[in-house]
Amino acid sequence: MKVGVIGGGPSGLTIARMLSDKGYEVYVYEAHRSFAVKPCGWGYPTPDSDEKKYGVFSEAVKASLWVFKGYDVYLNDDLLFHSDKQILGYIIDKKQFLENLSQGIEVERGSPARYLGGGLIRGRSGVKRFDIVIIAGGFPAQPRRLDRILAVQAIIKSPRIEDAEIPELRFYSDLVGYAWVFPEGEKTARVGVGGYADRETLEKILSMVIKKRQDLAKGEVIKKEGAEVTVSGVDWDLARSRDPFYVGEALGYTMPVTGEGIRPAIWSSIALFNAIENGNSYEEELRKLKLTRFIGIQRKILDIMLKMKPSERDLFIKNVPEDLMLDLSLGRAGTFDLLRLAKIPELAMILAKYAIKII
Ligand SMILES: Cc1cc2nc3c(=O)[nH]c(=O)nc-3n(C[C@H](O)[C@H](O)[C@H](O)COP(=O)(O)OP(=O)(O)OC[C@H]3O[C@@H](n4cnc5c(N)ncnc54)[C@H](O)[C@@H]3O)c2cc1C
Repeated sequence: MKVGVIGGGPSGLTIARMLSDKGYEVYVYEAHRSFAVKPCGWGYPTPDSDEKKYGVFSEAVKASLWVFKGYDVYLNDDLLFHSDKQILGYIIDKKQFLENLSQGIEVERGSPARYLGGGLIRGRSGVKRFDIVIIAGGFPAQPRRLDRILAVQAIIKSPRIEDAEIPELRFYSDLVGYAWVFPEGEKTARVGVGGYADRETLEKILSMVIKKRQDLAKGEVIKKEGAEVTVSGVDWDLARSRDPFYVGEALGYTMPVTGEGIRPAIWSSIALFNAIENGNSYEEELRKLKLTRFIGIQRKILDIMLKMKPSERDLFIKNVPEDLMLDLSLGRAGTFDLLRLAKIPELAMILAKYAIKII
């Protein structure tokens, strides 16, 4: 069985790896000459017990550059939560991770490809025919524009990053989105901001975040970049498509509130692998995933955030208990936790006002 995959990101190379290991003849097209060119914070949460069962998640951890031992969360520059006691996740060398996944798989690099229909893909080397075609090209590969926000990021080299094991997340009541400081060692940090705002506003916030910290302000910005992040939630029409199949961000499979996309991209490809291997429906395999439910919940939270006035957003963020905020962000809260959220009077009031049911 010949499989053509358009896109060599986490989703494309996960499905390519899994199918290739089962004996499928896989061919990947990657538009760039190297992997992981698209801007990304390279943040990756610690795998949970379900994820430990799959080799791909451990491959990501194996490629980690730095371990985070806590977090600082700010609202309008006031510290909301601080923890230095739990391993939250990693900064992974995404390029290395993708190189490792691609071992032994034929990848046509520097080849922007186009699906012509009928199993035919046109790449740099001409047209090839496949039995299965998978679109894994990220947000630019969406056949129609799903809801997306812009994210801008600066990579900063500094003589010394303070508390380098503690990443920083910053919320602002007048921005639906957030800023991050992800150190990747003691001398480099990825500092970014994404949200429902134009580039100029996001860049202003980015410089504010950098100025707030002496260690970053003294450093040198070695790269400034930007890209969109899909926040729509899963596009179920695309999930029902069989020719071609869609995985990862091309399908809308990213976390709408946090913009996390690497781990979700891997999960969507696991669902597609199960569908192809067992002859099941891809849509059903996706619906079975815990993360799918959470993508839906985060999209509802985003809808509430978009409707709220800045003062209500302030109240909402301040009243979510720390453990719940963490579980909601990572997509790991259970039904009981969500009920807890609905029982907090300040939050219940806002949820009722906008007639939104989280569960
Ligand atoms: C600034 C920023 C910061 C982010 N930070 C994080 C983070 O810290 N952690 C996290 O988990 N997520 C983060 N994300 C989201 C994450 O990067 C993506 O959601 C994730 O990489 C999606 O994986 P994917 O494989 O579906 O698509 P992508 O990673 O976008 O990969 C698609 C690949 O397909 C290639 N391609 C596209 N079109 C074609 C074509 N026609 N032919 C051939 N190749 C093609 C592209 O070059 C690319 O390599 C961030 C996003 C942005 C913009």
